[in-house]
Amino acid sequence: MDNKALQESEERFHQLVNNIDEVFILRTTAPYRYVYISPAVARVFGLTAEEAMADPARFLSFTHPDDIEFVRQTMQDAGSKSRIEVEYRIIRADGAVRWVWTRYQQVDVAPGADPLVAVVVTDITAQKDAQRAEASARAEATRANGAKTEFLSRMSHELRTPMNAILGFAQLLDMEDLPDNQRESVRQIMSGGRHLLELINEVLDISRIDSGQLALSLEAVLVSDVIEGVTDLMAPLVDARHLTLRSPQGDVCRVHVLADRQRLKQVLLNLVSNAVKYNRADGDILLTCDAPSPEEVSITVSDTGIGIGGEELRRLFTPFDRLGRESTGEEGTGVGLALSQRLVQLMGGRIDVESSPGVGSSFTLVLPRAQSLVAGDAPASPEESGRGPSGSDLLATPLTVAYIEDNPANVRLMEQLIARRPGVTLVYAMQGQLGLDLISSSPPGLILLDLHLPDMSGEEVLRRLKANKTLMDIPTVIVSADASPGQVRRLLAMGATAYLTKPFDVQELLTWIDDPHRTPDPIE
Ligand code: ADP
Repeated sequence: MDNKALQESEERFHQLVNNIDEVFILRTTAPYRYVYISPAVARVFGLTAEEAMADPARFLSFTHPDDIEFVRQTMQDAGSKSRIEVEYRIIRADGAVRWVWTRYQQVDVAPGADPLVAVVVTDITAQKDAQRAEASARAEATRANGAKTEFLSRMSHELRTPMNAILGFAQLLDMEDLPDNQRESVRQIMSGGRHLLELINEVLDISRIDSGQLALSLEAVLVSDVIEGVTDLMAPLVDARHLTLRSPQGDVCRVHVLADRQRLKQVLLNLVSNAVKYNRADGDILLTCDAPSPEEVSITVSDTGIGIGGEELRRLFTPFDRLGRESTGEEGTGVGLALSQRLVQLMGGRIDVESSPGVGSSFTLVLPRAQSLVAGDAPASPEESGRGPSGSDLLATPLTVAYIEDNPANVRLMEQLIARRPGVTLVYAMQGQLGLDLISSSPPGLILLDLHLPDMSGEEVLRRLKANKTLMDIPTVIVSADASPGQVRRLLAMGATAYLTKPFDVQELLTWIDDPHRTPDPIE
């Protein structure tokens, strides 16, 4: 290369390094000496290349005191490793704190000569600020979501506790010999109460899904089992409306899907109950199973009802939108389908809809097929495994029930309920420790335990009961307004005999009083 060409090439190099934002540094390893520092050092560190070259120790003095040890170590390591990348803070000559990304790389310059270290320093402050802003926005969103769920869960708890008294006393009244008009009033209270409760549960579920806090337990579920359970439950309503429900015969639905058993049942119940509610007099409901693909199983619920128009179909899964059916007198919240769709999507499936006004609707639930289980190998379903022995013959046996509960209305409700069982005595305590003392001084035959107590949690009371050899075998039924599935599973795993959610079903509670040692139903 002649001199002119060399000069031009050098100029091009200088133009290049003058214009790049990264600082490029070339230094020896030991002794520590700079061979080259590019002019960008002025932009990043706030000192000229000449100033930097003159004093090798000066660079280190720019490092933020909190990062200095880490950087010193990294620089030493750079001598033995071929390539190192590191991020740290510097305090520039003008006092500004900046984030830099630095890469150290060994370069062999000539055979036999000591290698040099090439260092590239980039100012990444803007990037870091953006990352920090994003992380704090994410943290804020998570916090806000958590706060919303916490609020809803508290509100739901606060609403359930008085509902327990309302529905409980209404059920007690309903067992009395009442004049017709009063019985009608009581039924209205119960129906309104149940409706409100359903709404609370659905809204809470949707909010849990939206904040990613709804845990599903996926397993291989036999479709015919779920269909049977749902059709059994719906039979009284279907009959009352003079409808005909036909479900698949034979083995066509003996296939397994990967789903949360309870949630699948909830979704199918919603679809069948809609097919009942929005049907015509003497109409039909047909349930069918199919396999849209080798990996999928579908369950279709068809009805011969009022149908849904094209524009309405688009709004079908919008929470609280009842498509103007409020005036039909059919009870509903408008949340069921929105919740069903979210649940099915969480299970990896979908809901397809076809409908024509005046003719009827078909809702098809498509779910992933579960592998490997052969028909006939199905685990016993809740519907198949049956109930424990009836306790009617035990009625005469004297029994003491200890109730630990701090809400006076709930204690009164329990007193009235137990008054219906001759031979059964209720003792109660309104605090956890008092309850434990009561139970130790005279062990009862059944313990009913609320979880929110003023002095200690009901969970702690249960833990202490289960740790005590003389008390550990007393059946302990949790009666709580907190219905979160995780909580239910945890308490059952700790040894609780059953978990009833407030407002509890009076008949179900009575089955425990009639036979505290009965086999619990599988978790519903
Ligand atoms: P709802 O509690 O009102 O029944 P859903 O979310 O289950 O709430 O359904 C939303 C709306 O979709 C209903 O109010 C009704 O207008 C309409 N819908 C649902 N299923 C059917 C059906 N099988 N036939 C006609 N309309 C239906």
